[in-house]
Amino acid sequence: MRVAVVGSGPAGCAAAIALRRAGADVTLLGDGRDGVGEQLHPAARPLLARLGLGCLTGQLECVGVRAAWRSAVVHEQPFLSHPLGSGWLLDRASFGAMLRAAAAEAGASVRSPARLLGLTRGPSASSSGRSAWRLALSDGALDCDWIVDATGRRADVARLLGVARRRHDRQVALVGWLAAERPDDVDATLTVETTAHGWWYGCRLPGGRRVAGFVGPARRLDAHAWEAELRATRLLAPLLDGYRVVHAPVARAADSSILERCHGPGWLAIGDAAVSWDPLASRGLVAALASGLEAASLVGASEARLAARQEVIETRFAEYRAERVRLYA
Ligand SMILES: Cc1cc2nc3c(=O)[nH]c(=O)nc-3n(C[C@H](O)[C@H](O)[C@H](O)COP(=O)(O)OP(=O)(O)OC[C@H]3O[C@@H](n4cnc5c(N)ncnc54)[C@H](O)[C@@H]3O)c2cc1C
Repeated sequence: MRVAVVGSGPAGCAAAIALRRAGADVTLLGDGRDGVGEQLHPAARPLLARLGLGCLTGQLECVGVRAAWRSAVVHEQPFLSHPLGSGWLLDRASFGAMLRAAAAEAGASVRSPARLLGLTRGPSASSSGRSAWRLALSDGALDCDWIVDATGRRADVARLLGVARRRHDRQVALVGWLAAERPDDVDATLTVETTAHGWWYGCRLPGGRRVAGFVGPARRLDAHAWEAELRATRLLAPLLDGYRVVHAPVARAADSSILERCHGPGWLAIGDAAVSWDPLASRGLVAALASGLEAASLVGASEARLAARQEVIETRFAEYRAERVRLYA
């Protein structure tokens, strides 16, 4: 089976590794763009172990979360008592490079930079009933039997196939980066706090950097206003003494959304492409790795199996939405 995994983020790389192990002929396509710098929850540990990636060299340990959510009271959620241990504060570029190297090592053919531009049912559609595709890529064409859509919130494969996405909000994150020579800064937590317009998160990253993001409804906030608001926060600002902004804020979609259908004949969506969560949930990376691993048993599966998976996704998303409504009420 020739499988094209489109998108080389955590979901795509995990899928490529798992599919290779299952004997598929895998091409991993991506543009090498990575996330902003995030917390990887301890729940990722068993998934990373299954991928043969127990040791995340060069990443920072995360020992928990400090959050002041709609209250002056600061809640500490230490991972000390977590049965799986600590998490990580991730430099996404080096995490992504490590995952792509692992996919290549597993035998996937990694094509990068290669963007999916279009797709058609391929010329080799066989009488066996197996779907076959021709993909138009920024660096040429590719024929395959199955497509795994791992393109993140863009869900480019599903979009090209005309599958609608249900967006439950239009939340956006304005994320910037800061740097300092501060060897004394050993803060190993993710900090979250609400403000009048939305909420902020921030943490240390490898290489003497910090990431900070404002999350809320889309609004105009230039670099100066962004930094002024950040420096006026109660919990984050004191952690930023001596830090200077080294990268003006960029906007990233941070909505909660789900595809109307996460599969169809000869294709499957995984990770954020299938369903994306509010960054507050800190579950996107774990969900992406888990769904990538699961892809090996779903590619080529019966409609009944795929429909059962759709039901599970819908149920989990409905539960998550109810919890989110409660948090934002
Ligand atoms: C501000 C913010 C903070 C977050 N914080 C956290 C956190 O603390 N913890 C956590 O667990 N999660 C967090 N998340 C969520 C997390 O980043 C995502 O859930 C995770 O990256 C999803 O992985 P993925 O592989 O599904 O998609 P992605 O990481 O988005 O990877 C998709 C890849 O596909 C590529 N691509 C897109 N279109 C095409 C195309 N046409 N052709 C080829 N390639 C394409 C993209 O460029 C990208 O490289 C946060 C998200 C945001 C926006």
